[in-house]
Amino acid sequence: MQDYALFIEGRAQPSASSESFDSFNPFTGAPWARIARGNADDVDRAVRAAHNAFTSGPWPQLTASQRGLLLHKLGNLVARDAVKLAQLEVRDNGKLIAEMQAQLAYVPQWYYYFGGLADKIEGSAIPLDKKGYFNYTRSEPLGVVAIITPWNSPLMLATWKIAPALAAGCTIVIKPSEFTSASTLEFVKLFDEAGFPPGVVNVVTGFGSEVGQPLVEHPLVRKVSFTGSDATGRIINQQAAKHFKSVSLELGGKSPNIVFADANLDDAVNGAVSGIFAATGQTCIAGSRLLLQEKIHDELTDRLLALARTAKMGDPQSMQTQVGPVTTRPQFDKVAAYVDIAKKEGAELLLGGKPATRPECGSGWFFEPTIFSGVRNSMRIAQEEVFGPVLSIIKFKDEDEAIAIANDVRFGLASGVWTQDIGRAFRMAERIQCGTVWINTYRAVSYMSPFGGYKDSGIGRENGIYAINEYLQTKSVWINTGAQTGNPFVMR
Ligand code: ADP
Repeated sequence: MQDYALFIEGRAQPSASSESFDSFNPFTGAPWARIARGNADDVDRAVRAAHNAFTSGPWPQLTASQRGLLLHKLGNLVARDAVKLAQLEVRDNGKLIAEMQAQLAYVPQWYYYFGGLADKIEGSAIPLDKKGYFNYTRSEPLGVVAIITPWNSPLMLATWKIAPALAAGCTIVIKPSEFTSASTLEFVKLFDEAGFPPGVVNVVTGFGSEVGQPLVEHPLVRKVSFTGSDATGRIINQQAAKHFKSVSLELGGKSPNIVFADANLDDAVNGAVSGIFAATGQTCIAGSRLLLQEKIHDELTDRLLALARTAKMGDPQSMQTQVGPVTTRPQFDKVAAYVDIAKKEGAELLLGGKPATRPECGSGWFFEPTIFSGVRNSMRIAQEEVFGPVLSIIKFKDEDEAIAIANDVRFGLASGVWTQDIGRAFRMAERIQCGTVWINTYRAVSYMSPFGGYKDSGIGRENGIYAINEYLQTKSVWINTGAQTGNPFVMR
């Protein structure tokens, strides 16, 4: 068993309670690490360290270019340690080594991109309608940012927040998921090596009610950036509202993956599989509703079944494995519960629907790739996020019906459209109510392209130039260059 402490003011520190909790390897189902169990006192210590680092010390004295350079150095260190960090996430999270190596090799780009953006944050000079004044704006960092992350892609999702927050000049306190805290604690050691002043980045590990809530409510925290379930996002939004804190919320999805009869069906089948079985369906962007046009419904379903049946399950550390375990025991139970719900609702089970008992799955939390057909969009299995390898197939007639079904859900995170008709591609991209539309591809992301949700899928955008604004606030400065002060009781 490995022990992990909190990370406050640039060094490992024990929790105030001296208590810890276990982190499990989903492939073996056994605990492998002990994580410090933080509480409100630890949160207070970490937030004060971040606040001190924000208001005094070397961090606010750095030029924006110097901040950018630190982010570049950090990116280089992540690149150096990518394999080690990837292996750690596989052990703690059960994600495939093939996926994690690619992900960690890509993560440095966020630090390079936002590092480059740090010294391009500009205000503007405003040509006022009033004579005798010079008016300009400053873009200033919000202050201490609480970063709360889920268990499905701990380092990548933290990076989407850390890079723009630090580029903006904020300081941060991170609370990783209690299920997967180890990689974040290992990663933050690199900040010291890169040369970040102590207190700029802090980590408090623990549970939502014991660490997350006091962090959101702490008076010195000015911004909460959260990725996780919509249920928790709703609570956080309410807590943050009490103190008028800015929030960025990246929540769940029930994304439609829509295949028209004119699509390249080979590509569409691949896209359907990558939409739902990659990462064992544990992604907010999972294409969990597969909308098939009537004419190709049966053929595409058969091809999909044939491909899904070949999916290799097993040890996520093996480069050959295609579907790994479910990350947590509660999530495993939730997937099983949704399969029962779908059966009771009258959906037709075509594949899977049960825990995987193949020998290569050992005692891990594996669930068979599961496909339901004959799903109606009003069923719970089509409306609620399962966050597992469970696909619902829904039939549609034409474009209008595809749009009606796609949008008839309270989420709006992502979508896929498979068609060779360019006009249709544009029409669909315009009419689908969600933050990302993929045409003839699925599950593509970049540090350059905005990502976020419509409707209940969240507030704000990550990635791309705009994302830095989530961590900035605007100040307007007025300078009298010769205006008469005039009547003090009348607005100027
Ligand atoms: P997921 O199951 O996708 O991780 P959750 O929304 O349950 O989604 O958890 C996401 C993160 O939010 C985790 O780090 C969790 O500990 C944290 N969290 C849970 N409840 C709260 C809360 N009331 N306030 C702040 N953070 C919370």
